[in-house]
Amino acid sequence: ASEPPLLELTGVRAGYGPIEVLHGVDLAVPAGSVVALLGPNGAGKTTTLNICCGLHQPAGGQLRLAGRDVTGASAEALARLGMCTIPERRGIFPNLTVRENLWMMSQAGTSLADLEEAAYARFPALGERRGQLAGTLSGGQQQMLALTRALGTTPAVLLLDELSMGLAPRVVRELYEIVGRLAAEGMSILIVEQFARTVLPIADQVALMLHGRIVDVGAPSEVEEILSASYLGA
Ligand code: ATP
Repeated sequence: ASEPPLLELTGVRAGYGPIEVLHGVDLAVPAGSVVALLGPNGAGKTTTLNICCGLHQPAGGQLRLAGRDVTGASAEALARLGMCTIPERRGIFPNLTVRENLWMMSQAGTSLADLEEAAYARFPALGERRGQLAGTLSGGQQQMLALTRALGTTPAVLLLDELSMGLAPRVVRELYEIVGRLAAEGMSILIVEQFARTVLPIADQVALMLHGRIVDVGAPSEVEEILSASYLGA
């Protein structure tokens, strides 16, 4: 008997008011693996992530964590169970310094000293800028700070929404290198991206979403052709 996936959605339906945008989504993140959820603008990727962390409630279907049915659980309850998301808008305080942002994060229970040590070891650029206002950091450095926040809570599943948005390709590669290292440490990760190329090297599985449905799941090598044929272009 194989163990259940760490995170599993089955037949999830959801929408906004009378409009259904997810029409029965099946998606699984096995423990210790990286799943990339790809699809064009408006496919329903963010809605899917929001359901995983309780920010949006499904109208039907089930959400399970390590086999346990957590459908309908609040965002607070799911956060306590380790569902941690980095939103597109990053969720950091632009008018506080790097160190003050870490202090805010330490209110969740980890000591500031431990957070600083871990953050600066992982992201030396943040250490060099500990006194700088977060809003004046580069986009990539802001994502490092957002990642630190997520890691401070030792997530069971790290949910990343369009990590690469608005960032230079070099920065995206750097961030994905870090995500790849987290994956190598055994973290389970669900990554939403619109464009595939940057995320393929670190993904164990790729799920392709179109119009509120998962239309394909496979290893990156298997889906690459489908991806380019369906929407990514050559
Ligand atoms: P994007 O790459 O633009 O974030 P996405 O794949 O993440 O796209 P969603 O953001 O989940 O897609 O949106 C799916 C559909 O739901 C879209 O048609 C969108 O217009 C709609 N939608 C999203 N949020 C809301 C909302 N708060 N109210 C009404 N409709 C919404």
